[in-house]
Amino acid sequence: MSNNSKIWLSSPHMGGSEQQFVKEAFDTNWVAPLGPNVSGFEKDLEHYIGENSQVAALSSGTGAIHLGLILLGVQAGDEVICQSMTFSASANPILYLGAIPVFVDSEPETWNICPEALEEAIKDRIAKGKKPKAIIGVHLYGMPFKIDEIKAIADAYQIPLLEDSAEALGSTYKGRKCGTFGEIGVLSFNGNKIITTSGGGALVTSKPEIKSKAVFMATQARDNAPHYQHSEIGYNYRMSNICAGIGRGQMQVLDKHVGLRRGMHQWYADFFAKIDGVTLFSEPSDDFYSNHWLSAIVIDPEKTGGKTSTDLRLALESANIESRPLWKPMHLQPIFEQYPYYGGKISQDLFENGLCLPSGSNTTEEEKNRIFAELQLFF
Ligand SMILES: *Cc1c(COP(=O)(O)O)cnc(C)c1O
Repeated sequence: MSNNSKIWLSSPHMGGSEQQFVKEAFDTNWVAPLGPNVSGFEKDLEHYIGENSQVAALSSGTGAIHLGLILLGVQAGDEVICQSMTFSASANPILYLGAIPVFVDSEPETWNICPEALEEAIKDRIAKGKKPKAIIGVHLYGMPFKIDEIKAIADAYQIPLLEDSAEALGSTYKGRKCGTFGEIGVLSFNGNKIITTSGGGALVTSKPEIKSKAVFMATQARDNAPHYQHSEIGYNYRMSNICAGIGRGQMQVLDKHVGLRRGMHQWYADFFAKIDGVTLFSEPSDDFYSNHWLSAIVIDPEKTGGKTSTDLRLALESANIESRPLWKPMHLQPIFEQYPYYGGKISQDLFENGLCLPSGSNTTEEEKNRIFAELQLFF
């Protein structure tokens, strides 16, 4: 590898035993969307996140959100509240169902769904004649949202919470694993996530009957009959036994990789402590424990002598170091801008001044030195 090879934001990081699980799948001819790796991976996840969770391994996090909304009873014409600042995959499944997204701003501490704006949205939608069918909260970059506050509102209005924990496997709130707080939790194992199955996701629930229903829906909703009999619309969303084999290997190194990501975050914390006008995205209190999937900063150009997040991104790019703006809020996206929005400009300000920095658990010392040198030069 050349000295100037690309440093990625977040790339797959194998632990070593993944290929053994995949090989076993080939050796036993379980090359299918079911098999021992699928149930093994589900068991590993259930054991890891605890709380008597039931996990259904699926082909993507997006598919898990889609099925989750169906299982919560969302239908065409219903309204679903969604955190605006997130990846579009949190919100797209609302439209798959012909339902209507209602977007809500973030609060500045966790960058996630704001309790006040959420309650305002619920009250106003009810006043306009429609009670929202579900609330989608997201743990951005691994940072848990204000779970107690959000759950209290969801409970008070009796609206189920779908917890998009796609970025937060390994994060905890008050000692409990993210993914276990909502009526339904969602995980993602896409290539850039904290662990990967090369592509995959999971639906988390505390109820065995919801898990069986999710698996039923994810395997074409086939009724119990010798022939192909269907009384519900099904989907092809099950995880393959090959992908699940990668997942089983990744589970062996999950905690180690969370530690390495948190180490990257600490390394940035040490650097930015000396820099005026840069805030590193960090836990607001001991209740929050982020896997720090991505380390992110916000730059205040008034305190950096006019240097902006865009300037930094371009400087890093010229050194072949990847960085990326924060998620652009959904209410500012062409596909979603006609839908209702509640809140102010917190998420917009974060988007305009924020930047995600290389955070991979496989970042080498040499790469860290290159990043450090570029940051030094820039600031
Ligand atoms: C990655 C991601 C998803 C989608 O997961 P896929 O497995 O890529 O479909 C959903 N929500 C958030 C917040 C994500 O980061």
